[in-house]
Amino acid sequence: MSYKELLNKLNTEQWLEDKELLQLVFAFSPESEKYAMNLAGKKALSVFGNKIYYRGIVEFTNICRNNCYYCGLRKDNEKCKRYRLTEDQILSCCENGYRLGMRTFVLQGGEDIAFDVEFTDLIKKIHVRYPECAITLGAGERPDKLYREWYESGATRYLLRHETADKKHYELLHPDYQHFDNRMRCLNSLKKMGYQTGAGMMVGSPYQTYKELCEDLIFLRDFKPEMVGIGPFIPHHDTPFRDKETGSFDLTLYLLAIVRLLLPTSLIPATTAMDTVIKDGRLQAVKAGCNVIMLNITPLKERKDYRLYDDMAELNKMEGLDLGSLNAKFNTIGYEAVIDRGDYKEGVNK
Ligand code: SAH
Ligand code: SF4
Repeated sequence: MSYKELLNKLNTEQWLEDKELLQLVFAFSPESEKYAMNLAGKKALSVFGNKIYYRGIVEFTNICRNNCYYCGLRKDNEKCKRYRLTEDQILSCCENGYRLGMRTFVLQGGEDIAFDVEFTDLIKKIHVRYPECAITLGAGERPDKLYREWYESGATRYLLRHETADKKHYELLHPDYQHFDNRMRCLNSLKKMGYQTGAGMMVGSPYQTYKELCEDLIFLRDFKPEMVGIGPFIPHHDTPFRDKETGSFDLTLYLLAIVRLLLPTSLIPATTAMDTVIKDGRLQAVKAGCNVIMLNITPLKERKDYRLYDDMAELNKMEGLDLGSLNAKFNTIGYEAVIDRGDYKEGVNK
């Protein structure tokens, strides 16, 4: 089948067989990218209208026990100046975000296990103070018991990218003591507990080929995450992958478009990494079917020490985001940001 036939089939059936997905990845070209983006943009419009959901992201700690080879926050990076926001700081980030119109707070951080008990209390406090807001967590791999406590405290969404669905590839991106099976255990538990669950991968991570990307698509097709985070790999100068190449922006757009067609109702952010590799890259990601924008509401002083990769966009943006000009940018391509929790809606993916 030609890429047009494959994409048309995907567009109408929301399903492709494994080997068809592989064919589709191999068919990546400027033409197929354009064709996929066009279908995916229309699909997102038909499901969500021209709405984009803003999320406020608080990078609450950069302390991490892990050593992912790609990440600037890895434990062995001694140059990273470590911080953990206080409870008051985190609550005032939420207050700020709420005032700006955000109705979802994303609390993202390293695996800072010394903070766990206080963190549970903090989730409760945010939930009581902002009952109409959604709380999303991105705090890595944890025991089921803790996931359950956090859920009972008021968090209803969890972001944990699978990074790569190929076990051998996973082992090339992480040291021995970080296990692929544990990541999968976490993802399955989160979903079973009732969290809206986010998975996703980096595009162009070291040693990745089209075969691994195809496995990622198969995984996403079958796992059906409610949220999907996909961005290009970008090297960080103080990690073992400092000399590796940055992932392709266009290939990322192509994959985002394919995922929009595979999982029409999923919430897909136009990631910060897209803006880091290309100016206003997130606008193009929205055209490819993304419908979520994460806005950084971490205090500037700490934010500069939360560097997952080099030249991370928004690192130096002023506090009190200029939402007016951001809205204006989205208006130029026909979209508008809405004040809404933007929950996953049961629908065509199920
Ligand atoms: N510790 C948590 C959350 C912080 S990292 C976790 O690991 O889930 C959030 C995401 O940033 C990771 O899932 C990874 O996909 C992405 N990331 C880390 N380093 C990156 C890099 N060098 N380039 C692109 N994305 C990166
Ligand atoms: Fe820690 Fe997450 Fe970075 Fe891995 S990706 S080192 S778990 S912050």
